[in-house]
Amino acid sequence: MKQVYMDYGSASPVDERVIELILPFFNKDIGNPSSLHSQGIKAKRELEAARKIVADLIGAQNQKSITFTSGATESNNLALRGAALRYKDKGNHIITTSIEHMSVMNTLKDMQRNGFEVTHIPVDRDGLVNTEQIKNAITDKTILISVMYANGEIGTIQPIKEIGEIASDKKILFHVDGTAAVGKVPIDVDKEHIDMMTISSNDMLGPKGIGALYVKQGVRFIPFMLGGGQESGMRSGSENIPGIIGMGKAAELAQKEMIDESAQLMKLRDRLIENILKTEYTYLTGHRTKRLPNNASFRFSFIEGESIILQLNDLGITASTGSACSTKTLEPSHVLIAMGLRHEEAHGSLLLTLGRYNTEGDVDHVIGSVPAIVGKLRALSPLYPMK
Ligand code: PMP
Repeated sequence: MKQVYMDYGSASPVDERVIELILPFFNKDIGNPSSLHSQGIKAKRELEAARKIVADLIGAQNQKSITFTSGATESNNLALRGAALRYKDKGNHIITTSIEHMSVMNTLKDMQRNGFEVTHIPVDRDGLVNTEQIKNAITDKTILISVMYANGEIGTIQPIKEIGEIASDKKILFHVDGTAAVGKVPIDVDKEHIDMMTISSNDMLGPKGIGALYVKQGVRFIPFMLGGGQESGMRSGSENIPGIIGMGKAAELAQKEMIDESAQLMKLRDRLIENILKTEYTYLTGHRTKRLPNNASFRFSFIEGESIILQLNDLGITASTGSACSTKTLEPSHVLIAMGLRHEEAHGSLLLTLGRYNTEGDVDHVIGSVPAIVGKLRALSPLYPMK
């Protein structure tokens, strides 16, 4: 049976070129970058080279602005807690949106219990945040604004540069969760006035268990991982050298291939969107054009996303209902609810996230399978208005 993987947003395969490069760092080139011997010096050199490549990918002038972490969740925790605690004397108010990833939502919830005040800015039906509302929410106590570059569940890309200009005018720190966007769309932290940005390795086909946080030079921090002072004291703990080198290689490939790859993914994405929307009572979720090149997300009235996923799985197609986090609960996605969908509407979601190895044939298989599955499930649904 043909196998089609369209769940790159939940987990991506590691690029073979990355795997080949990092294998010797598991059992041959095993030095610790803090060691003085030649193995240690080699590890240090590779570590700094990877740091420079990741910095280059997002237009960061200084490679010291990149701190390696264990992944996007840690980077979001580090950014929000580290900066807010450091600037607490200036104020306790943080602005964010109602569609952030749980690693931002839950970190801020915890910080609210510890004296911070958080304003969640709503989004419109397309998942776009209104920059005027952000501006109006700013008070003299606001120290931090955190907005995701793009939402992996609905694909909507936010007006980051505009928000960055507002934050920069008011001298408020601006954190961006770039997990779903870095390596897929061109980003320039200076031009977009970004002070801190979360970067994921696996989302650009690098290894799992590694990520980074960009912190503009001059932004002060209180780190929470204390120990031997690695990563300039921002994040102690012996460095994950194979992971870091792999992330560097993934970033290098993204930089070289992003433009062509995005154009190809957009073609596949748009063919999915155009054809799947031909099924009645089917709607696109997220913005039609301000959208990640690899994201095609839908909702189908009268049926449940989980049933669609299981039926697709039987046909060899791996897809998702939405965020890998909300699939563990029976709650509908907070993102779809924030966009104004009713619970029963949000339950009928299907998320197809494309990636480097998807082909036209994959898209054909999905386009050929979805209408019949939806028809079959609707025939069983008491909600479906039978003709
Ligand atoms: N932020 C966003 C926007 C995400 O989509 C995710 C999940 N891929 C994360 C943060 C957390 O990533 P991880 O689970 O790899 O730490």
